[in-house]
Amino acid sequence: MNRREFLLVGGASLAALHSGRAFSQSHRGALLSEAAREDLPLLFGTDYYPDQTPEHLWEEDAAAMAAAGVTNVRIAEFAWALMEPEEGHFDFRWLERAIGILHAHGIAIILGTPSAAPPNWLSQKYPEVLEVNDQGVTLSPGSRRFTCPTNKTYRHLSLTIATQMAQKFASTPGVIGWQIDNEFTLGSSGRCYCKYCRAGFQEWLRAKYKSLDTINQLWGTVFWSNTYTDFDQIPVPLPSGAPPNPGLALDYDRYQSYANVSFMEEQLAMLRKQCPSHFITTNNVGLVDTIDMRDLYRNLDFAAYDNYPGFFAMSAGDGTDIPSQALVPTIALGHDLMRCARDGKPFLVMEEQSGKAGQPVFSPQPEPGQIRLWSYQAVAHGAMGINYFRWDTTNFGAEEYWHGMLRHDRSHSPAFDEMLQTFRELKSLGPDALHAPCEASIALCYDLASSWALSIQPGQPKLRYLNEIISWYGAVRATQAGVDLVPATQDLSRYKVLCAPVMYVVSAQQAETIRRFVEGGGVFIAGFRLGVKDEHSRIVDTPLPGLLRDVMGVELLDDQPLYSEKQGVSFTGPLTGPAAPCHIWADILEPQKTEVLATYTEGAYAGKAAITANSFGKGKAVYLGAHLEPADLGRVLGIFLASAGIKPIAAVKTGVEVTRRSAGGRTWTYLLNHSSAPQTVSIEGVYRDALKRSPISGAIGLEPYGVRVLMQG
Ligand SMILES: [Zn+2]
Repeated sequence: MNRREFLLVGGASLAALHSGRAFSQSHRGALLSEAAREDLPLLFGTDYYPDQTPEHLWEEDAAAMAAAGVTNVRIAEFAWALMEPEEGHFDFRWLERAIGILHAHGIAIILGTPSAAPPNWLSQKYPEVLEVNDQGVTLSPGSRRFTCPTNKTYRHLSLTIATQMAQKFASTPGVIGWQIDNEFTLGSSGRCYCKYCRAGFQEWLRAKYKSLDTINQLWGTVFWSNTYTDFDQIPVPLPSGAPPNPGLALDYDRYQSYANVSFMEEQLAMLRKQCPSHFITTNNVGLVDTIDMRDLYRNLDFAAYDNYPGFFAMSAGDGTDIPSQALVPTIALGHDLMRCARDGKPFLVMEEQSGKAGQPVFSPQPEPGQIRLWSYQAVAHGAMGINYFRWDTTNFGAEEYWHGMLRHDRSHSPAFDEMLQTFRELKSLGPDALHAPCEASIALCYDLASSWALSIQPGQPKLRYLNEIISWYGAVRATQAGVDLVPATQDLSRYKVLCAPVMYVVSAQQAETIRRFVEGGGVFIAGFRLGVKDEHSRIVDTPLPGLLRDVMGVELLDDQPLYSEKQGVSFTGPLTGPAAPCHIWADILEPQKTEVLATYTEGAYAGKAAITANSFGKGKAVYLGAHLEPADLGRVLGIFLASAGIKPIAAVKTGVEVTRRSAGGRTWTYLLNHSSAPQTVSIEGVYRDALKRSPISGAIGLEPYGVRVLMQG
């Protein structure tokens, strides 16, 4: 099926949905099998819990959803105890009835496999499935995500219930796809340290390194008499009187990521076999680094993201006015990470905040317009569909304050009409807009080896990888340039600039990729702590920045964690501007025929280089040795990005975000006002307002929390 045929079929399906007719099974089959899962139907829905809702309300719910424009629901992902009330006894009758009612109202169904919340009979009979946290404490059952990803019994029972579901619903009208498990990254401790994981780790090490001699040599186990003479001696990094071997700790983080991915892949392989016409994904919140999202999503059809911007406001403690300089880019970063988990392929928001959200404490009610704004922000960063979490608000359980589209009394939530408006508008944008790639001229290196290694040994306790990523991402996005998050292991020639904050671990492959990028004309901007370690967490035995010192044209004279001592940076040349404070970290640079653009102002290293720029091949390599505050970092990066040819799309004030997606000679420019005040945006060129279907140009007004989508071409 080509794109035009898809659009015709997709349009017919939507027309059927709008008219209240059943979601056509023939359309579903055509869309998903012949389109090879590349072109999906529009997915604008909600997360629904018939298992938590009295059956006499299902019909009323389905009718109300259909009237609201819901195209699909996700259901059943926490209903294991109802589907398998005793081991080996399965009961899907209730789920069949629920699916039948939803389908009759033209609502398609994404089924969740329930392995995130095992029933009590399971943990009672098989207590060995329980996770052991990083303090060696065995978790208690009674919540969710309290299980071990390695334990074979748990894997077997999870695969069994998922297989039973798949066999039952492979051909059921209305079922279109699967979500495997739920939020793999959200364990209470993030990683399991039980005896099964220890055995699994030893097996994984045996496959990776083949011999103990290699492990002993790479990890340097001669230190503290750690030499292993038997694989069974290798521990997991539980408390042991002093910090663990850094190489072991880094490999353990890799193993735990692998264990979760392989757990997921067992269900994936089964679903591919049982349900070949269904799409398959799994959902995650962003900005949690315990699992490598690229590995997790590699063989899934698309990434799925759970977006709760209100949580960021809660953690920032700034009350109801969620937008601020730091929060908006942080929320945007989560979307971009998820898009880049599948190399830019559009993702689905499986859960989008629809009201106050949380468990014992919960976020403020989003301001009027904000839920629509967040939905558009997701689309602006590459989403192809939105599911609001959740349809109703339950009156019981740990998430009884997690507010949905309906209140506790089943009346409409404050944002109900806003969500319906968003459904209508996004449907009217159509598949071309929703499947168009995001434009990105800048790559930001996001590499979990550096994140994990720096978490194991931060050097200075305030130095955190994610904080640096957020800070650099915010500075770069202020230029309106699209940003891809990349591991810097593959060709980067499509980008103008590669930014790499705290690239603490640099592998030989990454060094070679970066070298080729700069030689070919790219601009590489690296932060402090560059290339300190190799991928085995060994410190390099050459002057820093190790494998990249010829590219950067500098060697480190010294590196300094900063605590209470005063340090500052004075700028020169193209960076000339007010001096800036330097906290947390200072790499003291010794230039080798390299331009010095900033120097330190205090102490023994006053006058020594803090920022340098080196011409290498056809490109340039910039070293930011000083940790700068966000405003100073933004000013400095802005100058480098401008000189690399990065130009803003529109003239905006603080609080307005601009992104662009493009395909087939057509662009969609998203103007997002994250502030509570009206804004005016100046943009060159003539556009068409994609929502109002009218020409638009020049100074464009944005209401508080308002959105404009400008189409061109
Ligand atoms: Zn375990």
